[in-house]
Amino acid sequence: MIDIPVTLTCEPKKKPTLEEEGSLGFGKRFSDHMFIMEWYDGEWHNPRIEPYHRLSLDPSSSVLHYAQEIFEGLKAYRTDDGRILMFRPDANSERLNNSAKRMCMPTIDVDFNVEAMRKLVEVEKDWVPHSAGTSLYLRPTMFANDEALGVHAASHYIYFVICAPSGAYYKEGLKPIRIRVEDKYVRAVRGGMGFAKTGGNYACSILAGDEAAKEGFAQVLWLDGEHLKYVQEVGAMNMMFVVNGKILTADLKDTVLPGVTRRSILALAREKGLEVEERDISIDELVAYAESGELTEAFGTGTAAVVSPVGELCYRDKHMVIGGGEIGKLTMDFYNTLTGIQWGRIPDTHGWVKEVCKA
Ligand SMILES: *Cc1c(COP(=O)(O)O)cnc(C)c1O
Repeated sequence: MIDIPVTLTCEPKKKPTLEEEGSLGFGKRFSDHMFIMEWYDGEWHNPRIEPYHRLSLDPSSSVLHYAQEIFEGLKAYRTDDGRILMFRPDANSERLNNSAKRMCMPTIDVDFNVEAMRKLVEVEKDWVPHSAGTSLYLRPTMFANDEALGVHAASHYIYFVICAPSGAYYKEGLKPIRIRVEDKYVRAVRGGMGFAKTGGNYACSILAGDEAAKEGFAQVLWLDGEHLKYVQEVGAMNMMFVVNGKILTADLKDTVLPGVTRRSILALAREKGLEVEERDISIDELVAYAESGELTEAFGTGTAAVVSPVGELCYRDKHMVIGGGEIGKLTMDFYNTLTGIQWGRIPDTHGWVKEVCKA
């Protein structure tokens, strides 16, 4: 494996104390080091781990104008038996490359990228928090950095990975959220970039999220951009619906982000012998299932929350309370199983967890 040089900081920051771990929140504090490398002349140069630092960009830097940018999100966990684990870093590295291709950006060898992240987490292992439910969140990011205003694929890129010790998503246990079905704005269109993890997909969703938040909703559920008819996903989570004991979820096509959590939950569901349907699901079909009582559970899946129960779904003037607003049994099972695997409490029979080092 390629050796990645490490320059350690001379000024280590104060790590969160056990007490502070309770109020870490998400992505507000960052560890001491980062991985970084640059692309030019058609290849990656100088991969290294060095002290966390600010970047200096020319105002003409292409990312600031044309948003050629992609990112990833994954976590490292501290186990009770003294190991540090990462969850499916290979899947995130593959997805980064799929995003890169859509955005005309260079790809990164998957094994190399996994090793870069592993080594960074090893250097930062004391930054992986200790309390239940906490983790070290990794944010790999790539952006175009040509210093020119012409619109074309850039020939300079920067790729970095930073780490944020993050608090437990659910401090007081899983809590069902209210979601509004968005019938005005859209996030992704056929032939667009909905499947790519790129900042633009977030930039265009902030307004809808803000308007929904004013009405007390945690997230919006996007409908397809063509007909405003088929359900797709929420902000940063894929959506699953339990209907007559079957799992229904939107098929991916090119408009839905292929979540690693989604893929993992569907694998667990099929193993349990549950029927899974990945297909177009119209909002009218869903409303009918809600009204007949056939829709018994709904939940979002994503790295941040892992599984997020949905207690209420609102579409225009219809307010659908799901499962009496309580957490469903399958929702709870999936949450317990997946977090159990991630925190090393349940044996990993899938080869999903990668051991970083001993803690
Ligand atoms: C990242 C993301 C998800 C969830 O993906 P995971 O790999 O499960 O974290 C879902 N939807 C969108 C739009 C995303 O950006």
